[in-house]
This record gives sequence, structure tokens and C-alpha cells, in this order.
Amino acid sequence: MNYGEIKNFDIANGEGVRVSLFVSGCTHHCKNCFNKETWSFDYGKPFTAETEELLLKELAPGYINGLSLLGGEPFEPQNQAVLLPFLRRVRERFPKKNIWCYTGYLFDTELLGESRARCEYTDEMLRLIDVLVDGEFVQELYSITLQFRGSSNQRIIDVKKSLASGEIAEYKPKSGRI
Ligand code: SF4
Repeated sequence: MNYGEIKNFDIANGEGVRVSLFVSGCTHHCKNCFNKETWSFDYGKPFTAETEELLLKELAPGYINGLSLLGGEPFEPQNQAVLLPFLRRVRERFPKKNIWCYTGYLFDTELLGESRARCEYTDEMLRLIDVLVDGEFVQELYSITLQFRGSSNQRIIDVKKSLASGEIAEYKPKSGRI
């Protein structure tokens, strides 16, 4: 897996101050994607053992609320293969920090149902994630007033509650507007 960027003081992609990893590779090709260069799986730099160590170090300070995964598309199967072992380490090392993930796939019908993203890693990866922002970016539904998402079709999902209840539980950010 390659990645395009790491932001270690990100306040836009999830609650609180976060470390954000932008992985490479995306097969959605949404119209007016803001990040077209990340469609290529070869974009950016290789995600290595050193990258993992760097991220774990950047996640350590008390003021860091958690990790955010963005893309590209974290749920492309070849990205899941690399992200799953990393997320296990993050969970083990920082049980109190939270993990957000942005995906163009729909949680219920595509990640839990049938899609090109479904693979042997998907269920465990979902169990390790706290909040999933799902759905492709739709230019016509874009609004600058939306918090933590680009278009109003995208949902902010409490993954643990949703998996436990079998119904989509919306996550309500503690900080105001969504
Ligand atoms: S899912 Fe995200 S990165 Fe992929 S095409 Fe859509 S907006 Fe771009």
C-alpha cells in the first residue's frame, strides 16, 4: 500500500486533534473528486514498518484524540490487507483513542453486504473502527456547512452501536453542527 500524506495535527477529519493517514488507491472515481491523484495505487510513498512506527509515535501525545483513515479508499481490498494489522496495533497500544475512517462504500449494503470491497479483512476492520463516514462524494449535495463530510448523502455512523443493534446508528459529534 502507498500513502499520499500524513497530517499530525488535523482538526477537520474527525473530532478533536487527530493524526490522519491518506492512503492511495480509489476505484470510485466520483465526479469532481477533490483528490484525483490518489486514485492511483502507486501514488505517494510506500507504507512501511517505519511509517507505522512514525504514526504510533505521533498518536502517543495526550492531546491526540485518535486516528483518521482517508484516501483514496481505505476499504479497497489491497489497502485493507495492510491497514488491518496496523489498526490492531493502534487498538492495542491506544485503547482509549478512537479510530475514524472515511469510505466511498456504503456501510450496510456494500461493506457488510456485497461489493468489490468485501474480503476476508472487512469484518475485523469494521470492528476496529469507531466512526465510519460512508458514501461517495456527490457534487450536487456538497455544502460547505457540513461538518466532517463533503456531501449530505454521506453518513457519520457509530460502527460499534450499529454492529451491536443491526441497525444504522448515526454518530452525533459532540461539537455542534453536522
Ligand atoms: S471516494 Fe473519495 S477519493 Fe475516491 S473518487 Fe470519491 S471523493 Fe475521490
